[in-house]
Amino acid sequence: MSTAEQPQEEKRLNFIEQEIEKDLQGRFKGRRLKTRFPPEPNGYLHIGHAKSICLNFGLAEKYGGSCNLRFDDTNPTKEEQEYVDAIQEDVRWLGYQWSELHYASEYFEQLYQWAIVLIKKGLAYVCDLTPDQIREYRGTLTTPGRNSPFRDRSVEENLDLFQRMRAGEFPDGARTLRAKIDMASPNLNLRDPVMYRIVHARHHRTGDDWCIYPMYDWAHGQSDSIEEITHSICTLEFEDHRPLYDWFCESLEIFHPRQIEFARLNLSYTVMSKRKLLQLVREGHVAGWDDPRMPTLRGLRRRGYTPESIRAFCERIGVAKFNSTIDVGVLENCIREHLNRVAQRAMVVMDPLKVVLTNYPADQEEQVAAVNNPEDSTAGTREVPLTKELYIERSDFMEDAPRKFFRLKPGGEVRLRYAYVIRCDEVIKDPHTGEVIELRCSYDPQSRSGSGEQRKVKGIIHWVSAKHAVEVPVRLYDRLFHVEDPEDVPEGGNFLDNLNPDSLHTVTALAEPMVAAVQPGTRLQFERTGYFVADEIDSRPTMPVFNRIVGLRDSWAKLQAKGKVD
Ligand code: ATP
Ligand code: MG
Repeated sequence: MSTAEQPQEEKRLNFIEQEIEKDLQGRFKGRRLKTRFPPEPNGYLHIGHAKSICLNFGLAEKYGGSCNLRFDDTNPTKEEQEYVDAIQEDVRWLGYQWSELHYASEYFEQLYQWAIVLIKKGLAYVCDLTPDQIREYRGTLTTPGRNSPFRDRSVEENLDLFQRMRAGEFPDGARTLRAKIDMASPNLNLRDPVMYRIVHARHHRTGDDWCIYPMYDWAHGQSDSIEEITHSICTLEFEDHRPLYDWFCESLEIFHPRQIEFARLNLSYTVMSKRKLLQLVREGHVAGWDDPRMPTLRGLRRRGYTPESIRAFCERIGVAKFNSTIDVGVLENCIREHLNRVAQRAMVVMDPLKVVLTNYPADQEEQVAAVNNPEDSTAGTREVPLTKELYIERSDFMEDAPRKFFRLKPGGEVRLRYAYVIRCDEVIKDPHTGEVIELRCSYDPQSRSGSGEQRKVKGIIHWVSAKHAVEVPVRLYDRLFHVEDPEDVPEGGNFLDNLNPDSLHTVTALAEPMVAAVQPGTRLQFERTGYFVADEIDSRPTMPVFNRIVGLRDSWAKLQAKGKVD
């Protein structure tokens, strides 16, 4: 690369890539990049995790390195095998394969031995303060902490007590092992942080082998070091933990990975913390972790999101050093863009209004050729049956239509997609309710699409033949919360107060015949309506149940612009 090209190249790298490139020439010269994705198996992965996955696996791919999947399973009371399995499945679904699969619990013995090394160096001690006392002694951001009265125990006493902690001689919370750093440090994380706590709980992998469990800060960096991770990429909350991360590696004189922090993903109209997602599930506000309204990868998958669209989203938002909230519309655009390229089109009427073509022979049936995907010339066409009686979308007719309404109105003309121009001659109403129940129209036999002579009409609407229409249940999902930041609640309020009461409507739509035969998981564009997926779980052979993935355009933004929602 010539020096003239360099600044340009530099500009395209994000700040993490820039640091990595420096390090691969500097402190990690001769090594290959090694990253890891370290979930705690205490819940299902969500779109925020996807960002971390795409980043860690993506960097490994880009630099010819490798990425491990490591379960950060140091909290036995909250973790379960169910989550371990689901996380692996979700990472694979996103399209990534880890080099090595590890569990922090594999390192419990090594961590214990390293704790003894620190005790012997006079850098760790057993403390008998209660958790409340520890907090009190720690001080605040403006006041220094005070030394624990147990800080100056002898190495021998510490070794003895620590060994007895492990042996199970003391009850939960009775003692801790703490690093001996600096109770006056301006960084609270360095005020003798706890390394081990006593928890008599069964662990999903190590069973009853241990009753002392390492704290995050003690386990994480050392696990990175054991696996020779070069770059330990984490979210910004851990920036203040970095000095501790470094202190442990230096004090132990072990391989020292580099921690780099980036801003976590926040998405509008949803919550992301596993605790809150768990609450939504436990209290029945959603049907489960895979409810199509959930921001979990399972939920997004069930909703119909493709792995490609989620990866494209993570790529598009990039990595930042400052926290911000991304509009969920960005995610919705990513799935629209992907499905616009790949999804087969179909004609489906969501809210049917009957149309009778008065001059169409009663026993006639013809097949019109419908384009499967105008964005993909290899997708071909399919035949759609046309008969005398049809259904159109109720919203495509207006009795007192404004001048600019180019769909059907009394005396007006519109083209049936792929077929004829029709004119509305008569409007039939229910004598009691006055509701429009049928339109009597005449069709122009010369106007069939592709027949050469193209009559100009402004509107084109979709339709289905009444005789051939298949009923399909369609679940119209909307945002789970009706405000941008559900967590922004007044005193005494709760994020649940912001749940959108209208986040799910179910309708029975009328579809062209092909739609009834699609396999579960198939994604279609219902022309002029949106993108839909045949639900993978609730669909039966020849009886798909559809989930709306997303409307064709951002109907929410449009409503907002019109001031119809606040
Ligand atoms: P939560 O607060 O939702 O429970 P967490 O950070 O506790 O999330 P972990 O299982 O510990 O969840 O996270 C695994 C990895 O995913 C970590 O490296 C974490 O930084 C990253 N991660 C979690 N949430 C986000 C997010 N919203 N944006 C980016 N990365 C995230
Ligand atoms: Mg966590």
